[in-house]
Amino acid sequence: MNLAFSERLFKCTCTREFTQESAFTKHQRSCTKGKKRLITALSKAKDLLGSVKRP
Ligand SMILES: [Zn+2]
Repeated sequence: MNLAFSERLFKCTCTREFTQESAFTKHQRSCTKGKKRLITALSKAKDLLGSVKRP
């Protein structure tokens, strides 16, 4: 009767699917797509800060 558990899926942005949350979080740390997304978000914030500081 553990159907609910086996149906739980963790989807990464790189379309990879994991049934275990521990495996999913572990993959996200090394996933290039997940990292890329974070970096773009950070650079966007940097751009915003830079444009604000510009005279
Ligand atoms: Zn991934």
